[in-house]
Amino acid sequence: MLVDNFGRTIDYIRISVTDRCNYRCLYCMPENGIKLINRRDILSYEEIAEIIEQFAARGISKLRLTGGEPLIRSNIEKLVGMLSSIRGIKKTAITTNGSILKDKASILKKNGLNSITVSLDTLDNKKFNKLTRIGKISDVIDGIEEAIKSGLDVKLNTVLLKGVNEQELDRLVKFAFERDIIIRFIELMPTEVDQDFYKKHFLPISVASELLKKRYNWKISNYTSSGPARYLEIDGHLVGFISALSNGFCGQCNRIRLASNGRIYACLGHMEKYSIDFKKALSEGKSIDKLIKQLLEIKPESHDLQNLPIKGSMSGIGG
Ligand code: SAM
Ligand code: SF4
Repeated sequence: MLVDNFGRTIDYIRISVTDRCNYRCLYCMPENGIKLINRRDILSYEEIAEIIEQFAARGISKLRLTGGEPLIRSNIEKLVGMLSSIRGIKKTAITTNGSILKDKASILKKNGLNSITVSLDTLDNKKFNKLTRIGKISDVIDGIEEAIKSGLDVKLNTVLLKGVNEQELDRLVKFAFERDIIIRFIELMPTEVDQDFYKKHFLPISVASELLKKRYNWKISNYTSSGPARYLEIDGHLVGFISALSNGFCGQCNRIRLASNGRIYACLGHMEKYSIDFKKALSEGKSIDKLIKQLLEIKPESHDLQNLPIKGSMSGIGG
């Protein structure tokens, strides 16, 4: 079992398989993209699997592929097959923008994917196109329908955005209820990419929960997934709320993050300071046990996002 200095069990790894993305979401990437990791520095599927095998042997049992956009990495289903068959891995998930999910859902399921989270901030195509600078909402909806049809456990993630989707919560919730899938509202986090966007559009997560509580029958649910969401049961359906800022969840943090260049981050909020370049260290022959011990030791008690925005963009480290 992996336990950090604050007694937290770490059993979950998020793996950014690429820092590339086919969208340019206003809160995640600048219009011209970010400084990309050199292609030759990006971990191969074999290198990712080797690292995950080491972690799985020591207590990591859940993993999530993210990015950038994970589904645009060539043959991503192959990686899903490789990782989901590693001994000790009980749950393999992906977070995606859904743009090409329609074509990938069934092969991902076949290769061992258990669940998929699709980002969906609005159902209004105009707003969606403006927010992603390029996307078409029908692609994402088609992807969601196909993933449900393929038998994947589908969840939706909605970043709560003042002036963008606060009037649309009802519609988003109904969209999820009609398909019997879970929707989770997420608080916008500050990143170096666009702090003005953050200041303009941040809304505490309580705004969403209070609004829904007024309109629906609700009760507190004790449902938990592997993440930090707290759930309400609303009209018999689960709705999740994730607040990194206004109601922090660092005390229950169970995760580390592997970036596509082989650096492992112990915390999203303290990127460079609390991370180790595993790719480099392993190539220099350093002991994996020592590196993991060091990683657990540097994991901070909590982020400091109120004072320090996330360095770089979410797409770089795998939000
Ligand atoms: N491209 C995929 C997607 O959009 O789902 C996976 C990577 S994306 C970085 C993962 C999640 O991070 C998405 O749900 C996205 O909405 C969220 N995200 C990106 N920037 C964020 C920010 N500044 N605050 C909160 N969530 C953010
Ligand atoms: Fe791409 Fe996801 Fe970032 Fe949007 S949130 S730019 S889809 S990585």
